[in-house]
Amino acid sequence: QAKVAGKNCFRFYSRAMDLAVERRVNLEHELRGAWERGELSLVYQPVYRLSDRTMVGAEALLRWNHPKHGQVAPSVFIDVAEQSGLIESLGPRVLHAACSEAVRWQQMLPGREPLTVAVNVSPRQLRGGGALAEVVASCLKETGLEAGRLHLELTETAVIGDEAHVGEELARLRETGVKVLLDDFGTGFSGLSHLRRVPVDGVKIDRSFIADILRDPDDLALTSAIIAMAHSLGITVIAEGVEKAGQYALLRERGCDQAQGYWLGSPMPGPEFLALLKEEGR
Ligand code: C2E
Ligand code: MG
Ligand code: MG
Ligand code: MG
Repeated sequence: QAKVAGKNCFRFYSRAMDLAVERRVNLEHELRGAWERGELSLVYQPVYRLSDRTMVGAEALLRWNHPKHGQVAPSVFIDVAEQSGLIESLGPRVLHAACSEAVRWQQMLPGREPLTVAVNVSPRQLRGGGALAEVVASCLKETGLEAGRLHLELTETAVIGDEAHVGEELARLRETGVKVLLDDFGTGFSGLSHLRRVPVDGVKIDRSFIADILRDPDDLALTSAIIAMAHSLGITVIAEGVEKAGQYALLRERGCDQAQGYWLGSPMPGPEFLALLKEEGR
């Protein structure tokens, strides 16, 4: 009896695994050429300064509108792109598109305080042996974006483990004048001491901490500690996933520098973002 059940179990898992592998292989195949077919686009989520609630920039987030499945979650297709190596051709295109867009904002609103644009960079792009710094430099040159206006977001986990190598790569990046932010900060358990060894300009506190700051004193204590520690090292702090007015107020009170989240603004296509920008400028 047990043997039979075991056998069935095995068969069940094996088929589920086959399906998962098949779906992945399909996605990889379909992701190839998706940019050329116009299925990939960037949306922009506004980032606000807490002290006066002025928009200071935006984060560029990639979207895939699949012809059959509709919107595919970035957590799924970014992973596929990373594993398959497709990210190496996709990354520079994303970077270029985001920089061009930021230059457009400046041209449309010349009197305005210039906005920053943040682009997510995957671990694989960072391990390209100096290639990323070159891509970044040529991107800035081709688009004319001022280096300090470009923020590169690296996840904390991408940086852990290979500090010496990553440190070199980050130093090369920062020589181009761009700013480097540690994304999803707090989830990697690398601890605050990490900030001493990895040269970054800012940390983005992961939204899982922000979610409960109004109810959970531990999360609020951690968030406050991150803010204080980062500031003592001269590092900017950005909160992710602000969904309530109360969270905004509390973060502001605790001295957090910037924030983004659905309460402030959802990610939106370029033209919509530009319209919002014009409206806020009035
Ligand atoms: P991330 O860089 O941490 O981006 C923030 C994510 O939180 C985005 O998810 C955004 O839509 C979502 N978000 C923003 N505000 C709120 C909020 O108030 N509440 C909640 N619950 N979520 C909020 P998204 O767009 O699904 O992207 C997921 C992840 O995919 C990103 O996390 C980033 O790591 C990765 N990603 C997206 N675009 C790119 C890209 O162009 N390149 C690379 N390498 N990774 C990317
Ligand atoms: Mg990010
Ligand atoms: Mg994040
Ligand atoms: Mg996140």
